[in-house]
Order: sequence, then structure tokens, then C-alpha cells
Amino acid sequence: MRVETSVTMERVIIIGSGPAGLTAAVYAARANLNPLVFAGGLYGGQLMLTTEVENFPGFPDGIMGPDLMIKFREQAERFGARIENVDVTSVDFSKRPFTVSTSEGSYQAKTVIVATGASARWLEIPGEEKLRGRGVSTCATCDGAFFRDKHIVVVGGGDSAMEEALFLTRFGSKVTVIHRRDHLRASKIMAERATSHEKIAFVWNTVVDEVLGDPVMTGLKLRNVETGETSEFAADALFIAIGHTPNTSIFQDQLDLDEAGYIVSPDGTSTSVDGIFVAGDVSDLRYKQAITAAGAGCKAAMDAEKHLEALEFAMRETATAR
Ligand code: NAP
Repeated sequence: MRVETSVTMERVIIIGSGPAGLTAAVYAARANLNPLVFAGGLYGGQLMLTTEVENFPGFPDGIMGPDLMIKFREQAERFGARIENVDVTSVDFSKRPFTVSTSEGSYQAKTVIVATGASARWLEIPGEEKLRGRGVSTCATCDGAFFRDKHIVVVGGGDSAMEEALFLTRFGSKVTVIHRRDHLRASKIMAERATSHEKIAFVWNTVVDEVLGDPVMTGLKLRNVETGETSEFAADALFIAIGHTPNTSIFQDQLDLDEAGYIVSPDGTSTSVDGIFVAGDVSDLRYKQAITAAGAGCKAAMDAEKHLEALEFAMRETATAR
């Protein structure tokens, strides 16, 4: 059966709806570019999976991540951004106009802003996949409440791990952080909060080799990386907070990516294809903050606007010369 696709020409398509994508949408909409945003089936990016955000300027008492993203979205829509909750399935950046396809059709655009963010990484160890949703999770906000009065383990030594561990103290009888080194990568304030919390214990220089239990998680197989000693550790839940992988699978053959899969951008907004811009965690190995992503979204939209101006001016000149 032949599937009919609609082809619509857009001036700017934005892929992604975290702080980068929705800030780009606010700026592009206010520049009268009438942006079309493909927000993904689960819009809002990583902040939809987090609890309180304390470091986004303008909210002195903090704000819940999902509430912040609702405000971003409302602000973009107020200025006319069209936001579709669908996933982009493929792109063709090899020729102009660029093509962006979703399950609902194909769209053509003069410029595209890629702001697809990053997703939580998994340990990729035996038992992990089988016990996902049965004790193993990457989202404390989503699954923490299932483990009231249970012993919960968090793996990782960064800010995310500390944030998850602190949040999980609301539910668990005890939270143990297992980290592969003997000191934390987390910022001082988060590390101090976690290390001084009475419900949180630390196991250092240790990795998880296997998740145990059937049909639900009952424990972990641990290995001390210094001594090589292995042991079994009884616990009811495992929350994995070991960083993120950029969401770039649909751009593999379309844009230059670095070894870790991040989109290469020499100046923070441009990519290897003229007219395709990038913003946020999908090209940011270093900062990965909501505020830096929002700033990048602003820059990408301003650069896309400049690019369009030049493109449309050149097209008018050519038309007049004919
Ligand atoms: P991250 O800073 O990259 O930390 C990842 C942690 O996981 C590291 O401690 C790393 O160990 C460990 N790890 C990585 N792979 C592992 C593996 N296979 N097995 C065991 N452990 C592994 O990632 P993040 O914590 O998600 O933070 C990302 C960025 O977001 C950072 O810039 C952070 O500051 C920011 N962030 C900020 C906040 C906040 O301010 N409230 C909250 C969340 C995130 P090593 O230390 O040995 O490398």
C-alpha cells in the first residue's frame, strides 16, 4: 500500500522540546518565523523526569522540572509556535530544501534547529534489562514512590546521582550510593548534601556487575575495582544515574558527530551542513545545564533568522534579475 505524505514548506523546523528547543521556539516565533516544533511523543526533555530545579534563574524558591517546561511551552505557544507531540523518524539534510519526516508526514524546511537532547545511559549488565520496571530504573521521580521503606541503591557519582539519592530518601528506608571511584564528580553543594544525609550511605571503588532477582530485583553482584573482590548486596531497587547519551541516531549519516555521538559544532550553533543549526545537550559534552541549553536555543534561533534573511534576500535578487 502506498502511504501518502503531505509536503509543507517551513521556514524553521525545530526538533526537540527541552529548554533548548522551546527557547529557540520563543525566539523564532517572536522573529515572525512561524516555527514548527516537533516535540517528540514525550515533550519537555529531561526536566520532565526531574524534581526540583534550584538553579534556574528567576525562581528563587526553586521550581519543579515539569512545571518549568510547561511554562517554556506556554511561552512559545503564546507567540505562535506550532508544537506537535510527534517523534521525527528521519531527516534528509543532503539537499535543499531540507526534509524532516514524522509518522504523520514529510515536511520541507529552509532551516532546521536540532535540539534533541540526550537520554539516560544504562549499565548494560546482566539482569538489568529483565528487571527494568521490576526494581531497575533511571528515573527516581517516575519510580521512587514504588520503593517506600525499601533499601534503594543509586549508581553514579555525579550531580544526577546525588539528586536522585537525595530525592529517594523521601521513600526508602536507606539509600546506598555505589560509585566506581573514591570521590565524587558532583558539585560541592550536592556532594555535601548527600554525604551528610543520615539515610545515605556510600560504597566506594565499586561497580555493579549483575542485577539479581526473579521476578523482581532482590540484590546486586558487586565488584571492588581495587581488590577485584566480588560480593552480593541485598537491595530492592537500583537507580542508574551515570550520565547521558546524545539523541543523534537519526543524524548519523547527515551531520558530523564526534566519537561519543555529539553533534560537532565549531561555534556552538552551526553544524557541518549550512542551514542546519544545533542547540543544547545534543552538542554539549561539557555544561549540560537547563540554562546553558536555553541560551544555546536563543543563539541558534538568532543564527537561523540571519541565515534565512540572507537566503531569502538572495532568492529575491535572483528573481528580480530574471
Ligand atoms: P556526569 O556528571 O557525567 O556523572 C556521571 C557519573 O556516573 C560519574 O560519576 C561517572 O563516574 C559515573 N559513571 C559513568 N559511567 C559509569 C559506568 N559505566 N559505571 C559506573 N559509573 C559510571 O553525569 P550527570 O550526573 O548526569 O550530570 C551531567 C551534567 O548535568 C553535569 O554537568 C551536572 O553538573 C549537571 N547536573 C546538574 C544538576 C544540578 O545542578 N542540580 C543535576 C543533575 C545534573 P566517574 O566520576 O568515575 O566518571
